[in-house]
Amino acid sequence: MHLTNDRYTLGGVDMLSLVEEFGSPLYVYDAATIERQYKRLDTAFAGIEHHIKYACKALTNVNILRFVRQIGAGLDTVSLNELQLGLKAGFEANDIVYTPNNVSFDEVKEAIALGAQLNLDNLPMLEKLGQAYGGSVPVSVRINPHIMAGGNEKISTGHINSKFGISITQVDDIVRVAEKYGLDIAGLHMHTGSEIVDTDIFLQGAQILMEAGRRFKTIRFFDFGGGFKVPYKADDKETNIEELGSRLSALCHEEMKQRGSNFYICLEPGKYLVSEAGMLLARVNVVKQTPATTFAGVDTGLNHLIRPMFYKAYHDITNLSNPHGAVRPFSVAGYICETDNFAWERDIADIREGDVLAFHNAGAYGMMMASNYNSRPRPAEVFIVNGKAHLIRRRETLEDLLRTQILLDMSA
Ligand SMILES: *Cc1c(COP(=O)(O)O)cnc(C)c1O
Repeated sequence: MHLTNDRYTLGGVDMLSLVEEFGSPLYVYDAATIERQYKRLDTAFAGIEHHIKYACKALTNVNILRFVRQIGAGLDTVSLNELQLGLKAGFEANDIVYTPNNVSFDEVKEAIALGAQLNLDNLPMLEKLGQAYGGSVPVSVRINPHIMAGGNEKISTGHINSKFGISITQVDDIVRVAEKYGLDIAGLHMHTGSEIVDTDIFLQGAQILMEAGRRFKTIRFFDFGGGFKVPYKADDKETNIEELGSRLSALCHEEMKQRGSNFYICLEPGKYLVSEAGMLLARVNVVKQTPATTFAGVDTGLNHLIRPMFYKAYHDITNLSNPHGAVRPFSVAGYICETDNFAWERDIADIREGDVLAFHNAGAYGMMMASNYNSRPRPAEVFIVNGKAHLIRRRETLEDLLRTQILLDMSA
């Protein structure tokens, strides 16, 4: 986002004009930022053969999927519908990883029929795979290395109490099942959570994974998941991706010597690719002074961006309508009948009724976690490509809210 001549622009498009044209609240995504992040990651790992699989649960609009395919990414999916969306967006099935958790074996069979790369995370499912397919379907196995990568328990998935993966203490069991059915264990996988700030801990996890991999001769790759952190505030720590890339590459090359065989690696960035590319724009309906604070009440809420309330996530807020206004503390709150504060006593350029605010870092897990709570329709989505804004999802209406409801005959 740039400020030129008193107007904020994103990808060369005037942001206030977006709200005038498409209404508010509005999700806006910038293609150039996604591409910048992709290239940065790609360059950081230039030292080793790597495949970048976009973890699409962060943002699955098919136009976003088509764009990340265009710039060279594969896909990481966690449900059959994500897999189907990926196919619709033009991905080859074998460029799509399917990493389900606690799904039925029927769902796994469908994913196999569709041709996706299978990544399983429990022993009973590996048994079922062996019984039904023997070694004919390559599979990778999600391991829980029991490291705490960062963030809190809600977003960290590698700790001992996590429901994800097969514990590193159970590798013997994986070996046993693999031998019993002649499974083709193509890779080992880990995804330790959403906030990697400490490269050392991440590398420890990678080391643990690759040591476990020595038990499997069939391995062609290691998948180190996603969780690369992007800055949410000016002084925020982020994953040092260049350092991680060069150190992980070196570690992998050492491991190849140990194994006496080569492998490639996979990365599954979600947030890293799309978080900074997205903004949620909302209009201020009310400015209200209370004994505690000055509230700016906006025409969106936790129904559209749940991260502040759900994860205590920090999202920067810019007043697009008053770029040079005197900065003073405001508490920004949503319109939902629920406490849905986006920010408390935050320094923001003076907010007036009718102003448009931009919530930063809204590209990942924003629209995807939106709901119809309070019977509010979900926002429209706009995608900025090559200096042009495209509507890629229309705003919902009352009819959309009623579409799946079935009207009973109450007279009977
Ligand atoms: C969610 C998820 C990711 C992406 O996580 P980010 O924090 O968005 O990078 C990667 N891999 C798997 C298996 C996931 O479930």
